[in-house]
Amino acid sequence: MHHFAYRDGSLHAEGVDLERIAAEVGTPVYVYSTATIERHYKLFEAAVKQAAPAGKAHVFYAMKANGNLGVLKTLGALGAGIDTVSEGEVRKALAAGIPAERIVFSGVGKSEQELRFAVEAGIYQVNIESESELNLLSKVASQLGKRQEAVFRVNPDIGAGGHAKITTGSSENKFGVSFEEVGRLYARAANLPGVRLMGLAVHIGSQIREIDAFEAAYAKMVALVGELKDEGHRVERLDLGGGLGIPYDIPREFDYGPGLIEAYAAMVGRVTKGLDVELGFEPGRLIVGNAGILLTRVLHLNPRPTKQFLVVDAAMNDLVRPAMYEAYHEIWPVAEPADGAATTAYDVVGPICETGDTFTAGRALPALKQDDLIAFMTAGAYGASMSSTYNQRPLVAEVMVKGDAYAVTRPRQSYEELIGTDRLPGWFG
Ligand SMILES: *Cc1c(COP(=O)(O)O)cnc(C)c1O
Repeated sequence: MHHFAYRDGSLHAEGVDLERIAAEVGTPVYVYSTATIERHYKLFEAAVKQAAPAGKAHVFYAMKANGNLGVLKTLGALGAGIDTVSEGEVRKALAAGIPAERIVFSGVGKSEQELRFAVEAGIYQVNIESESELNLLSKVASQLGKRQEAVFRVNPDIGAGGHAKITTGSSENKFGVSFEEVGRLYARAANLPGVRLMGLAVHIGSQIREIDAFEAAYAKMVALVGELKDEGHRVERLDLGGGLGIPYDIPREFDYGPGLIEAYAAMVGRVTKGLDVELGFEPGRLIVGNAGILLTRVLHLNPRPTKQFLVVDAAMNDLVRPAMYEAYHEIWPVAEPADGAATTAYDVVGPICETGDTFTAGRALPALKQDDLIAFMTAGAYGASMSSTYNQRPLVAEVMVKGDAYAVTRPRQSYEELIGTDRLPGWFG
């Protein structure tokens, strides 16, 4: 479920008319619904806590899905931990007031500097992805006189996901240490001064809607936990990653949330039954995906003999998912279409000088005209967080709505800021 709906003929985010946000903040603009974020987080946390052995489960929101400070604060207030993948993300989580002891650091390529920062900050857990990283982490932490708690991210050789580019769990993918290596590395780690191995982690991909793929990977992890314990290793934590998918084709009144979350949690309960470990989860998309939209205005209609182009003021630099992953986003006009209104097939495109800057081709939409507002739905995850300034287009504004109030949580980048980031080489005098 999400909190974007028509009221009095106009699409609202909770109690706020999107027409008003467009008029006051301008377009393009991302709009996030606090109630939706909170609802998804609470649903997920309650479900996995109930499923986990002895109720021991921690949820670490994967902030790369949406790292807006307002979003992080909202989740932090609910007790969420944060899953990070760079020093910048660790810093931003701390800036949002998330205590270090609720921060996990994942990722295949952590640098020495990044590990030092994280260890010094006192984060909860580093998810180690290679033997090389194990050595580096131990060196860095022991130099600081610390012993960092960590887990091995294992590559279960079970990949899944909505697109090849977001599949991570196959042995052909770059992520994690191989299954066969874990025992040896665990034994090695016991002799290293700077790390304390606490368990295992796995993350097989993103936008996964089939419980079976998770189940196959998790079952392998549970077996591995047993083997390691039998060999006398300490295994107290099992981090099951993120990746749970969301519906992008949402019928307007469809309540999708609990079904998949509950099925997932039930499976987790079944697979981990009787296991004496604390479970970790790293959902990103699931928490914020349906909690955000990208609001954009129609700039031009460009009819051609065989098609009708609708040129909008948002582009692939603002929302890259269609260009990068062939992703589908519902498009809802802000002005509520009359029941049974005639539709036209539009190619919805942005202003960028690439044919790839196409949000959708041949989409049936109610007739639209210049200056009309439309919303790309389900844009809360991997939307703003993947945006760029390609074509020297300033980063768009982000807005959070809570009930009848809204706030700009990232102002639109100014042209001064955009141009001011460059420096001229000294030889120009
Ligand atoms: C991206 C990522 C996540 C979150 O994935 P979602 O599909 O957004 O839930 C979780 N863990 C790790 C290690 C990731 O890289």
